[in-house]
Amino acid sequence: MYLRDQVIILKKIPYREHDRQYVMYGRIHGLLLAAARGTMKPRAKQAGQLEPFSIADVMIAKGRNFDQIAVAVKSHGTKLQSVKTLGSLAIAGAFADLCLRLIRPGVADERLFKLWEELIGCLASLPEEPSALRAKLLFGAASLKLMDTLGYGPALSVCGVCRRPPGPTDAWFSPNLNGLICVDCVKTLSEPVMPARAHSVAFLRFMRASTLDDVLRVGLAVDVAHNALRLIQEVWKQAPLDREPHGMDTIERIMAV
Ligand SMILES: [Zn+2]
Repeated sequence: MYLRDQVIILKKIPYREHDRQYVMYGRIHGLLLAAARGTMKPRAKQAGQLEPFSIADVMIAKGRNFDQIAVAVKSHGTKLQSVKTLGSLAIAGAFADLCLRLIRPGVADERLFKLWEELIGCLASLPEEPSALRAKLLFGAASLKLMDTLGYGPALSVCGVCRRPPGPTDAWFSPNLNGLICVDCVKTLSEPVMPARAHSVAFLRFMRASTLDDVLRVGLAVDVAHNALRLIQEVWKQAPLDREPHGMDTIERIMAV
């Protein structure tokens, strides 16, 4: 039996002497794992179609013990789109790590496929290596969109207690409520809160509603960016992760070299 799908290659793992296993996210089937024969041999034809963070049309032979990629061709229109620079590989790698810790086989969500498609398009067309801060913002924006898709997105429009818009001044963020708390209500709360600068909250709303390309272009004060990143990392805690994702540190480390 064969399965056809368009997939994002998320990860490749060495498997036996000449083979590799590929972790993929399919538009129709969601998370997929399949081996490809002989991809470790020099001049292996399929390997070039299956580099991480490329988009491919695949045919997978369902096996009793394991599934195997029978055919893989880079998707039409994505031939020129490849994620190559150090910074973009760091961003895509961090996002793949986060996704793989939150998604399970058998649950397909086309919005997640489209989010990957958007991220790859954005990374492949970067005119130059982004700064470490910009790279973290891009990863942060993709992760916030992922949280929204999976239902862990924060409430950023009204105060979690009085339900009134918390602006235009700075407010607070309650990890417990996964949302904003206005300056009046924070006095009545005994739970831990963290500062949410008015500009950072506006930027988070912008991230949610805009494309990743727009996130790359927007001008931002450094302290606002750092506060926004701290807030995003708090939102991650809403998701069932066994430990904090390493993405931000990895990007910082890779790009500081
Ligand atoms: Zn309030």
